[in-house]
Amino acid sequence: MKFTILTLHTAMFAPLNTSIIGRARNAGHIDVEIINIRDFSKDKHKKCDDYPFGGGAGMVMTVQPIYDAIQAVDPGRNAFRVYMSPKGDKLTHAMADELAQKHKHVVILCGHYEGVDQRAIELCIDEEISIGDYVVTGGELPAMVLVDAVARLVNGVLDKESTKTESFVGGQLEYPHYTRPQEFMGHAVPEVLVSGDHGRVEKWRQERSKQTTESKR
Ligand code: SAH
Repeated sequence: MKFTILTLHTAMFAPLNTSIIGRARNAGHIDVEIINIRDFSKDKHKKCDDYPFGGGAGMVMTVQPIYDAIQAVDPGRNAFRVYMSPKGDKLTHAMADELAQKHKHVVILCGHYEGVDQRAIELCIDEEISIGDYVVTGGELPAMVLVDAVARLVNGVLDKESTKTESFVGGQLEYPHYTRPQEFMGHAVPEVLVSGDHGRVEKWRQERSKQTTESKR
C-alpha cells in the first residue's frame, strides 16, 4: 500500500523512518512518499499562501500548488484522496481498517495556517478526516496518525495475532497487560495470569475487557 503525503513541511515526517512503520517501509509492506507542495508553486517566489478574501486573521494555502501537486502524484485519479481537517469525519478503527483493506494508494493533503482554499477540497479531495475535536497547527501530525493507524492494519506489517484482540476490534477495549517482575512495590500480577491455565486466562481477559469497556466508554 502506498501513501503520498502533500505538505509544506517535509522535515516533520522523520518519525515515519523509525520503529514499526520504518521497518514496514524497509520491508516493502508500505511505501510512503513525501511531496513538497512548494515545488509546484507557479509564483516566482514559490509562495503557497495568501491573505483570506473577506479579511480576518491568518493566511490560507492557495489552490494552484495543491491542485498541480495532486495532479502530478495521481494523474489518473486512481488514489483515494484525503484532506486532514478538524472539520472532517472523526478517525475510527473501522475507517482505518477500511482504508487499509480497500485502497492501494492514499494521497494525504496537509493544511497549515488557517487551512486551504475551499476549492482545493472541492476539486481534489474524496474525504476530510479529523483526528479529534481539537485544533493542531498543521496537518502533518494528523497525517502521521492516519498513516500509522492504517499501516499497522496492512497485511504483513504486524503479526496477525497482535491486532486480533486489540482495542476497538470487536467493539471492546483491550484487557490490561502485565510483564516481569511478578511483584513491584507490593503490587502483584493477578494470580490467574501465572496459573498456566489458558482457559482461565482467556476468561479473565474477556471479563476485564468487558469491564474496561463499560467503565471507560
Ligand atoms: N482554521 C481551521 C484550523 C486550521 S489548523 C479551523 O478552524 O477549522 C491548520 C491545519 O491543521 C488544517 O488545515 C488541517 O490540515 C490541520 N489540522 C488541525 N487540526 C486537525 C485535526 N483535529 N484533525 C486533522 N487535521 C487537523
